[in-house]
Amino acid sequence: MLHESPELAVNLSDVRKRYGRTIHALRGVSICVRRGEIFGLLGPNGAGKSTLVKIMMTIVRPESALGEVLGRAVGDPDALARIGYLPEHHRFPTYLTGRQIVEFSGAMSRVDRPTRKRRASELLDRVGMGAWKDRPLGSYSKGMRQRTGLAAALVNDPQLVVLDEPTDGVDPVGRREIRDLLVGFRDEGRTVLLNSHLLSEIETVCSRVAIMVQGRMVAQGTIDELTASSRRYEIIVEGPPPPWGSDHASVQAIPAGHLLAAGVAQASTRLIFLGLDAQGAQPILDRLRAESRTVVAVQTVRESLEDLFMRAVTDPDTGLIYRPGAAT
Ligand code: ADP
Repeated sequence: MLHESPELAVNLSDVRKRYGRTIHALRGVSICVRRGEIFGLLGPNGAGKSTLVKIMMTIVRPESALGEVLGRAVGDPDALARIGYLPEHHRFPTYLTGRQIVEFSGAMSRVDRPTRKRRASELLDRVGMGAWKDRPLGSYSKGMRQRTGLAAALVNDPQLVVLDEPTDGVDPVGRREIRDLLVGFRDEGRTVLLNSHLLSEIETVCSRVAIMVQGRMVAQGTIDELTASSRRYEIIVEGPPPPWGSDHASVQAIPAGHLLAAGVAQASTRLIFLGLDAQGAQPILDRLRAESRTVVAVQTVRESLEDLFMRAVTDPDTGLIYRPGAAT
């Protein structure tokens, strides 16, 4: 029986890797991935994402890597046998069929012959490649190759699925199909570590994200946590800004241009409140009503993952990291 963290599938700290003397690919990175979640690893090209994943898969040897993957030290064979991996730009010989590729991957993961034969067929059906099982890879589209790769990554029935840019070069329909498969993997109780530079993809499927820049982890948490400090409350009222004095010093009133109401353009004002919640907004709404102002809209606005990402990439020292309860 393995002694595993009941909560964390990946719990690594101080991961360091240098290529040659000059390239510091990882400068002491920490990452915590919870069991049963889809975790998104984001970063511009060259940030060190693939290196981190390759260290977990023992393809690259680190200078240092403290902590555990599936409850074992990095490189432990029992843990590796429970990880499914889809590398970036994976290249299988184009004369192999989808079935042969998945069976070959099963053999590499020491899955016995009858099991890998059965699973190859089931998994190819599952990823929508049932009709193509016995055709050569050379005849597949990019999306079909990636789906076949996903079937191959699942052949050892892994607890943790590590996917390096699974939708790279895949068209929007294919990306959607792959995303749906990832959600299916999670719903079966697997943990998915998704390495991608496609922000929309990460935003749609990931419960938690990490942003890496130049070999460092600059942000880690749920998108909600990471964007909380930018949360604004907006109240849009008809007419000009209210003539409030210093008692509402936190109010920033900016003209919201013209809102279209029932087809008629009306002048309105957007009032922006930083760090306000719905409860805190009530006295302001009361006051607006007492002053006979018409409230057109009340909404919470926060920065998008793209805004967060741009902020992290352009200024990696802003201290975005949010890791409640994580090991330091
Ligand atoms: P990402 O996956 O975020 O694009 P990588 O992990 O591939 O980043 O690369 C991180 C850094 O390490 C980059 O500067 C890259 O050029 C360098 N690098 C990656 N692999 C090698 C290698 N095998 N030899 C030398 N440098 C490498």
